[in-house]
Amino acid sequence: MGKLQRLYDRMPIFVQNLMVSLSGYSKSRNRYGKAYRERRRFLTEFDSKSIEEKLAYRDKALVDFVRYAVENSAFYKELYKDVDLDGFTGVKDLIKLPTVDKELLRANIGAVYTLPRRRAVESHTGGTTGKSLTVRGLRDDMMYRMATLDHFKSRVGFENRRMRRATFNGKHIVPPHQSKKIFWRYNRACRQMIFSSFHITEENLGAYVEGLNSFKPQAIDGFFTSMCDVASYMERKGIKPSFTPVAIFPTSETVTDSGRALLERVFGCRVYDQYASSEGAPFITECAEGRLHMELSTGVFEHIEEGSDEVLVTSFLTRGTPLIRYRIGDRVEFDNSCTPCACGRHDLYVKGIQGRRLDFLYTAEGAKINAGNVANLFKNLPNVVIRSQAIQERLGFITVLLEVDKALYKDEYDDVIRDEFLHKFGASTEIQIRHVESIERERSGKFRFIVNKVEL
Ligand SMILES: [Zn+2]
Repeated sequence: MGKLQRLYDRMPIFVQNLMVSLSGYSKSRNRYGKAYRERRRFLTEFDSKSIEEKLAYRDKALVDFVRYAVENSAFYKELYKDVDLDGFTGVKDLIKLPTVDKELLRANIGAVYTLPRRRAVESHTGGTTGKSLTVRGLRDDMMYRMATLDHFKSRVGFENRRMRRATFNGKHIVPPHQSKKIFWRYNRACRQMIFSSFHITEENLGAYVEGLNSFKPQAIDGFFTSMCDVASYMERKGIKPSFTPVAIFPTSETVTDSGRALLERVFGCRVYDQYASSEGAPFITECAEGRLHMELSTGVFEHIEEGSDEVLVTSFLTRGTPLIRYRIGDRVEFDNSCTPCACGRHDLYVKGIQGRRLDFLYTAEGAKINAGNVANLFKNLPNVVIRSQAIQERLGFITVLLEVDKALYKDEYDDVIRDEFLHKFGASTEIQIRHVESIERERSGKFRFIVNKVEL
């Protein structure tokens, strides 16, 4: 823990709010400058372009980006030394370039960077596989990414920094020994109330609802499972929100159909999904018509091979640590229909984002069942499961941890759940159900609904 965190922990809450705001203002300098404003204007224009114009822009941006990487990154210069780059004219030529993966980047990271640390905006990618990577970015690229994100939200009516936003994230804003039930701090720089994801327990949820009701956010964003925990509590207790947000924007975690329906029911507004990993993948965003659009100004998605959903990403906004044909580990199902969308934009589309490689369980035979399908196994129960986690340590065996509403839960529900799992996974998989007081979050504050430890 840093010095600043220790100092923060000793301060009264109003000083902590001030410190959170100061940190917010300081971060804003790297996020909302001239490049941000220019990009917002560019994106508004870009939306109205024809698909041909957008694809032509993307080809040109790709050629420039590959050239930039070769000129500024020793790693890419070496990697492409036998490639005829003069004949490289756009997306159709990507196939000529070798692919890269996380291990290759990590082992060569010093040579991959195109700029020294002192001029870079640094970010750290999640370590779900135990591998973490420090990514260096250009300040302008950071602003372009923020602009893309804010533009996506503004299309559906939410203007970031002008409107109030409640965020559930993994920041340590509540000191360990705090006794008051105030689990949020205010970042004035962005009109953002940050809610801690670490203190969401049945005992504290009432306070969270009060916090939200008094702040009256116009959007809720951040960790999906945290919002679902709050919504599920409200529904179980029959509590109505005293506000109607414009939209809900989950990040970082898999959005399940049942969780989405719950949030839309309880808060009376739409949920808009998005995809952009912390490593800097291109963006995929959901529009007002519920369709997933590739943000063509941000990069290229390809499938790793025909018949596979696993993608390679080339991300234009990663000039500090270029990602070109990078095997990011996510699976994305493309939508091959190329018609204009009823939202008014004409793009390339995506049917579904299956999420991380580790976001699934195996059947005894080794087939994969993704997180969305596992979540569906609980949908025939009344709203009595507060949280669940499916853990797989070896093939043929799954442990289901349940945190339930004890007042409403009936013993026979265990059999309903076991039966659902057996139908999905087959009789050769043994299902063990364990009731626990609370299911731990990860250190990042994210909640992992699936924990798959099987190495195949
Ligand atoms: Zn659309």
